[in-house]
Amino acid sequence: MTEKEQGPLDVVFEQIKEASRTMKLKDSVQTLLSHPKRKVEVSFPVEMDDGHTQLFKGYRTQHNDLLGPFKGGIRFHPSMTVEESQALGTWMTFKSALVQIPHGGAKGGVACDPSMLSDRELREVSRGYMEAFSDLFGAGRDVPAPDVYTDPKTMGIMMDTYSRIAGRHEAGVITGKPPLVGGSKARGAATAQGAVYVIEQMLEKMNQAPEHTRVAVQGFGNGGQIAARLLYDKGFKVVGVSDSKTALYDKEGLDIPKAQEVKENNGLKEYGAEFLLDSSEDVLYVDTDILIPAAMEGVITKNNASRIKAKHIMELANGPTTPEADHMLKEKDQHVYPDILVNAGGVIVSYLESVQNHMNYYWEEDEINERMKTFILQAYENTEETAAYYQTTYRNGAMIFAIQKLEQALEFRGYIS
Ligand code: NAD
Repeated sequence: MTEKEQGPLDVVFEQIKEASRTMKLKDSVQTLLSHPKRKVEVSFPVEMDDGHTQLFKGYRTQHNDLLGPFKGGIRFHPSMTVEESQALGTWMTFKSALVQIPHGGAKGGVACDPSMLSDRELREVSRGYMEAFSDLFGAGRDVPAPDVYTDPKTMGIMMDTYSRIAGRHEAGVITGKPPLVGGSKARGAATAQGAVYVIEQMLEKMNQAPEHTRVAVQGFGNGGQIAARLLYDKGFKVVGVSDSKTALYDKEGLDIPKAQEVKENNGLKEYGAEFLLDSSEDVLYVDTDILIPAAMEGVITKNNASRIKAKHIMELANGPTTPEADHMLKEKDQHVYPDILVNAGGVIVSYLESVQNHMNYYWEEDEINERMKTFILQAYENTEETAAYYQTTYRNGAMIFAIQKLEQALEFRGYIS
């Protein structure tokens, strides 16, 4: 199979195989961790604004719940498939295990293009999805969260739909809600904030100042835009940003508040013609110390890995680097900090949101971030130590640490001896 045809599911299988080989994992455990517990595909109707009824396809893969209830986002995207939900759900299992929160892994979504839907249609798609999966979701069963093109509003509508079905208030069914209806004050920025903690820790170890560190960010949404802003505010030189249409570059450092403003109005292209790169993809190849892929899977492959100049690649998106690209970068002494570590701030704060829903008591943003920081920096140390012990990549180190936890849980729950 050529890399062009290698989808996220092939990538995650290869990552499990590599970790299993390195740690000499029993075949039976590898098989178990490679297979989801449940994958469900549904169709549900929505009456559109023009009066016709359209059928939407929804997916949920519940990969593993050895360590606690399933957990993972809901994505609204035209390319959403059952395979994609399986790959992303599998990564969630390893992410939860790596950062040591009491949750398993799942992922789901709807195949749709939210930019083509009105607010009312989007609300009905959100309600339809939650209704179709209401038997599978629940605070002790499976707790979804936002992902690509879903947001706090979507989560609020889904919480409301589930509560209506249950006949009682069920804030803990879903995380990433607006704070007023049971959300966490820190969830909006959590994924980016977690990555920033990891980046700061890395710089501290290297004794390097933010002012002397250049960053480029691919993707200017929930993850990428907030990361760019947090880093800019801390004095980093953000030299490149992009969204699906436009890429900007300034070797002196971009004005990120201005980029946010133009993005909100007429799009990044309004930032200034002299700062535009030829194509959106070009942001990956700019001269920078840190590259943050924060858009979609499979953007760094064997076909373009040699063009990447960054010494450190911080995976804010899920699955942006394929296994072959991983090894090509390692050979050139470029370090990939894996998604299951770098973007785990989101799921950690989601877990803390569930804790608050159970207590029905809400912490302030700083307190939540401090708690999240402890989890993610511990995971960073465990990743580095495991990678050093096995003399392998950070990704493989992170995977091995997570698999060790899952293997122990299999034993403690009586599946292996
Ligand atoms: P989002 O929808 O808010 O933003 C995605 C951004 O990527 C948009 O700016 C879009 O224009 C851009 N984009 C899409 N295709 C692109 C391309 N080919 N080139 C450049 N830019 C492109 O989504 P998000 O929530 O920021 O999620 C982005 C990634 O982060 C996904 O992989 C997601 O799974 C991962 N992630 C998100 C969270 C979270 O809490 N939001 C948590 C963990 C992981």
